[in-house]
Amino acid sequence: MTTTEPEIVEMPQIAVQWTRIRGRLQAEVGEVEYRTWLRQMTLAGLEGDEITVNLPTRFLRDWVSTRYGDRLRTLWQSENADIRRVEVRVGGSMPAPVALAQTHAAPREEVPAPRIEAARPAPASAPAPAPIAANSWNEERVEPRSDLAAPLDPRFTFEGFVVGKPNEFAYACARRVAERPSSPGFNPLFLYGGVGLGKTHLMHAIAWELTDRTTAPVSVAYMSAEKFMYRFIAAIRSQSTMEFKENLRSVDVLMIDDLQFLIGKDNTQEEFFHTFNYLVEQGKQIVVSADKSPSDLNGLEHRLRTRLGCGMVADLHSTTYELRISILEAKAARAGVDVPVKVLEFLAHKITSNVRELEGALNRLVAHANLFGRPVTLETTHEVLHDILKAHDRRVTIEEIQKKVAEHYSIRLTDMSSARRARAVARPRQVAMYLAKQLTSRSLPEIGRKFGNRDHTTVMHAVSRVTELMERDGTFAEDVELLRRLLES
Ligand code: ADP
Ligand code: MG
Repeated sequence: MTTTEPEIVEMPQIAVQWTRIRGRLQAEVGEVEYRTWLRQMTLAGLEGDEITVNLPTRFLRDWVSTRYGDRLRTLWQSENADIRRVEVRVGGSMPAPVALAQTHAAPREEVPAPRIEAARPAPASAPAPAPIAANSWNEERVEPRSDLAAPLDPRFTFEGFVVGKPNEFAYACARRVAERPSSPGFNPLFLYGGVGLGKTHLMHAIAWELTDRTTAPVSVAYMSAEKFMYRFIAAIRSQSTMEFKENLRSVDVLMIDDLQFLIGKDNTQEEFFHTFNYLVEQGKQIVVSADKSPSDLNGLEHRLRTRLGCGMVADLHSTTYELRISILEAKAARAGVDVPVKVLEFLAHKITSNVRELEGALNRLVAHANLFGRPVTLETTHEVLHDILKAHDRRVTIEEIQKKVAEHYSIRLTDMSSARRARAVARPRQVAMYLAKQLTSRSLPEIGRKFGNRDHTTVMHAVSRVTELMERDGTFAEDVELLRRLLES
């Protein structure tokens, strides 16, 4: 591309306008989309009434020109009435290694691009990137990797990941792979754990790290197993499986998220297995996530499970109270909203299922505080999160209550249903019955059955006995309250 075009006459003024346009686009489409598609745009020149914008690859050029072309033109016109047309071309420099899989220096070429002249009304906001049909690869031989990758979430970086006991091992492994991909012993890297514990976050963090680095850039393809399957099916339909295979096999790092999705999808599994083997043989890095360990992924082919377990297997454990507090603190600080420690503690106790829910609750509090300009308090928390908290209340089971209470009083769990009547055992058992009545919707007979088939009158007696004791004995009352709070979390 001839970036030295003599037509760049009014660059200073134009450059200012361009900066404003970029800013507006960024605000309109959001950070993720902007980083993925638009950040690499550079201003190439102005010729008559036509502005030229460059992008480093044909793929990006086509994408931007079809999806954002009209919007670009409207924005330019609002900035500069002289401009009537915007041309998006391939060329120019890459200001920063940004989008996934575009870090391989793509062959730069001068290709005439479609002009954007049609006076169609601009969309209110640019549409979100849709899945790309596999056959768009056919015409796109120069930059085969660019549409392999799903957009990365800019928040999902190593810096934004809070490390604690439950995830430190997985974090360390992810860091290691990001530093030195394809190291023996770390290939494949298999991350597993329950929903919302940070698998996707860590995968994106690896991808950001690898694509953002300036020396020895590598091409990374990250996608969900679901997307992998749809791409594969689309390739079969359009008879372009060869391209599909070639494209996949040309990356340096392949990341497949939520592999459990492939259970029962035998053909796609088979395809993944071959790609996997090919890449590993070529010394390329594979990163996979799933909700279970390789050996527990029943329904996945045996040979695939075996291969998946050959490298490093790291699990993300359920969060601890401490980790939840740290995460909340970090996210509150990031949001710039002052959240009292009491509220953070309350949330960390209450929402234990996964980080996504915890984050959602905090976001809602923050949004509420910003909207109404009111400080966050325990009261507003109860109010604003009413529905979320209620949903969490319902989850307490009698078994959990028995377990927590037994732990608290250091008695055996079996004593909850045993016939022993010693006070050291009987009192905790009564506390557990009381809490079961308070925290669950079970009837007295149902509760009795869970405590060694006791009669409902025994449960009734336990409830009134504990109530009475709580009124008389402050320490005992605090104890029971503490247990209740723990269980409600
Ligand atoms: P998964 O893929 O395991 O279901 P995600 O990676 O999507 O979970 O995480 C869910 C949400 O929780 C994301 O917004 C992520 O940023 C956040 N999250 C999870 N673990 C952490 C952590 N340790 N530190 C900061 N944020 C986290
Ligand atoms: Mg995920």
